[in-house]
Amino acid sequence: MSGDLLTMLRVHDLPPTWDGLAVLWSGWEYASPGLFICPPPLREVCEGCGLPTTERGFPAWSTNRGLVAVSAVLTHDDLRYEEENRARLGALAHRRKPRALFRLHAFRCHSCSLDDIWDTDTDEWWTLDHTDYGDDGSTG
Ligand SMILES: [Zn+2]
Repeated sequence: MSGDLLTMLRVHDLPPTWDGLAVLWSGWEYASPGLFICPPPLREVCEGCGLPTTERGFPAWSTNRGLVAVSAVLTHDDLRYEEENRARLGALAHRRKPRALFRLHAFRCHSCSLDDIWDTDTDEWWTLDHTDYGDDGSTG
């Protein structure tokens, strides 16, 4: 299957919810070797296209961080509001109980757009299929 077809089937760029919890994605960044203090155990070859996940020592993937609500009653608007508030509060924000956590890391293959998700809460890896990009999000 070509990468174009894979991405064409996607309603959203990434799952809008994760097991019923709202997710705000930070935006794609080119993966750099120094990005992680503790590098996630990426596969050696991409499951989608079979190409190596590194090119001359550099990852051939982009990464995205997902801010996940701690409760199913929180909406995407709640999370956005909370993030704005925290940005305004600066250092004081740490005293507030978080309503969302940067729990998910997404990895996208540069050649076939396959997305792998690392759930740092459960330390599980998920390879997304097109059903995960619908309005109902991903239900692992
Ligand atoms: Zn690939």
